[in-house]
Amino acid sequence: MAEHTATPGELYRAEALTRRYRDGGREVLALDSVDLHLDRGQRLGIVGESGSGKSTLVRLLAGLDRPTSGRVWFEGTEITRLPERDLGVLRASVQMVFQDPRSSLNPRMRVGDIITEPLRSRLVRRQLPAGTDHQHRLAEVLEAVDLPEDAGRRYPHEFSGGQRQRIAIARALAPKPEVLIADEPVSALDVSVRAQVLNLLTDLVASQGLTLVVVSHDLMVVRHLCDRLVVMRQGRIVEEGATETVYETPATAYTRALLDAVPRIRTSRG
Ligand code: ADP
Ligand code: MG
Repeated sequence: MAEHTATPGELYRAEALTRRYRDGGREVLALDSVDLHLDRGQRLGIVGESGSGKSTLVRLLAGLDRPTSGRVWFEGTEITRLPERDLGVLRASVQMVFQDPRSSLNPRMRVGDIITEPLRSRLVRRQLPAGTDHQHRLAEVLEAVDLPEDAGRRYPHEFSGGQRQRIAIARALAPKPEVLIADEPVSALDVSVRAQVLNLLTDLVASQGLTLVVVSHDLMVVRHLCDRLVVMRQGRIVEEGATETVYETPATAYTRALLDAVPRIRTSRG
């Protein structure tokens, strides 16, 4: 297994990350030789138009997909070619929240079982302190996301969209991850509850000491949450920098167009 000497604080490094998909007879280059690094405690935003490769990139970081070529290191260990059985650290340390809590939460499971499910996974269990009490952890994370104590006994359909996304966030927090990756976390929510969920994420990142990766086509979302941005187009990173620098002095016409389009794309999804 290839190791490399991680600089202090380095959590992720990706080199020449490429992912091709076969879509019918057509080949799609979803990710085209992307380099990336992420330090512990950073809050990274990944923005770009729909289809630019954002979700593909974060799925590779989370170990949910394998690259066609290129490599990813997590805490100095190359994860790209590790067999599934050796991905335990990643499965516990890196948690994802997806766009639509309706499809990411099993409607037939009680919320308490949904949230504690990651704790029962064999790969995750080995990473947790011995004797981790699932009901205790459930109560802790329900409180952390401002849901009532009895929420665990109920089913997802009994909750509003914003509350369902809080459930998804609680499940992600349950194994005490180091990294939270949120892919369009508020895009499927009513505009009226987006700010509440974003504020919750902001608070949790601080209180739980999380490293955050947020994917959004909505530049207002990442401006609020992130200290560093990468801008993607057609599978490549076309611009990268401190959030305020990218906003104040965008280096490419593409980024300027994304910024100009904010009021319009705020209402679209994808
Ligand atoms: P984004 O999240 O920025 O909208 P994605 O990473 O989802 O973009 O997709 C990047 C490109 O890869 C798009 O052209 C998309 O259609 C294609 N793609 C993504 N997933 C698959 C897949 N499983 N099979 C075929 N093509 C895919
Ligand atoms: Mg996407």
